[in-house]
Amino acid sequence: MAPSPTPWPVATPTVGELPAPAYTLTAVYDDARHTLSALEEIAYTNRSGEPISEMLLVVDASVFPGVFRLHTLESVQGPAVTGTAWERIWLHVSLDRPLAPGEAIRLKLDYELILPARIADASLRPMVFGWSERQINLVDWYPYVPPYQPGQGWLTHPPGFYGEHQAYEASDFTVNLQVVHASAELVVAASAPERREGEWRHYELLQARTFALSLSPLYQTVTRQAGGATVTGYFFPAHRVAGEAAVQTAAEALELFGDLFAPYPRETLAVVEADFLDGMEYDGLFFLSNGFYNLYSGAPGDYLIALAAHETAHQWWYGLVGNDQALEPWLDEALCTYSEKLYYESRHPEALSWWWEVRVRYYQPRGFVDDSIYNPHGEAQAYRAYRDAVYLNGAIFLDRLRQQVGDEAFFAFLKDYAGRFSTRIATGKDFFTVLRAHSMADLSALLREYFQSAP
Ligand SMILES: [Zn+2]
Repeated sequence: MAPSPTPWPVATPTVGELPAPAYTLTAVYDDARHTLSALEEIAYTNRSGEPISEMLLVVDASVFPGVFRLHTLESVQGPAVTGTAWERIWLHVSLDRPLAPGEAIRLKLDYELILPARIADASLRPMVFGWSERQINLVDWYPYVPPYQPGQGWLTHPPGFYGEHQAYEASDFTVNLQVVHASAELVVAASAPERREGEWRHYELLQARTFALSLSPLYQTVTRQAGGATVTGYFFPAHRVAGEAAVQTAAEALELFGDLFAPYPRETLAVVEADFLDGMEYDGLFFLSNGFYNLYSGAPGDYLIALAAHETAHQWWYGLVGNDQALEPWLDEALCTYSEKLYYESRHPEALSWWWEVRVRYYQPRGFVDDSIYNPHGEAQAYRAYRDAVYLNGAIFLDRLRQQVGDEAFFAFLKDYAGRFSTRIATGKDFFTVLRAHSMADLSALLREYFQSAP
């Protein structure tokens, strides 16, 4: 059974006045041992309007056995920590008294990561986190506090076989990184611009869902300016042509989506060639499958180009506007897939028919757009059903929605939705509430066709 999405209380009245969660991470990466020693400070203010009886930390790295080692955890401000208990990827932190509405707690952690070697096993979903000879990826590498829903508690889900399971509050990040024992100079791609101070690299990223880093002794880089931001491509030496095409596409898409949705909120965007066969989005940084670099044809009708536009769109649909990625993945994935079409319409209309025929219709997509990542079909085979329903049928649904409400209302709606839910978490219900403010069109037949639960 796929759980049905629960309505998300949009925002608490105090959100605007109280600070967002803030993470300060000081980490030393030992390249000889593939370990990371980190000190983390989490400043968390209770913005829920109700007392919070225990804190919860999501430790995604703990999904891999023996990878995460917690040395100490203490509270240096607010309620004291009386104990901790593990439950799957969650660390429950009990307090001597509840955290009152408006009150801040400051947690200090000292931990170590023994990075896993990324395994290339065709039966498993490719791993992003960990190290390979060519690439070290630090993604979801720190414990974080999930969003808190008044009346319901922490919003968090177990990992699924495919599809991202996390929901993130927009948070502030200060990251200090030092690399030691590297046999060759490592090039570092990050979610934010780097400030170098001797051996230390400093980063700051505000109102972001995540902070990711990717290190490699092999990266070559290329840079473009777009929409007020610096877009940098990081790719492996044999892939300069594809690497330049990926960055060019990301730069064009960033400019276009900045006009269509909302201004791009960051100074930089890193476009990183993945040393695995998958793409993955983080704030200010994304990975593109090296399979697309290998097979790049040079034509605009090409997966490298479509997916570079897709991953760039995640900076809006995932980054700026957050969503519950486990239960309502269509909110970011259908919108990003449809954003590929918007990119082709605007920059490469000659390849639009390729996009429809090869990228979408070839798979004869079907299935409900509002499927969750916990698709009941089982494992590897289910990925196709999930992708076809959420991504591809989702894009077809959005195109039909656009036809039904008309371009003017559709694009005004997208802008309004991006603006209203910027740095917040939107639900399907929010999506349609904003849509209905822009169009009175009767959508009931369309929604019955594409959605299993009435939005
Ligand atoms: Zn995506």
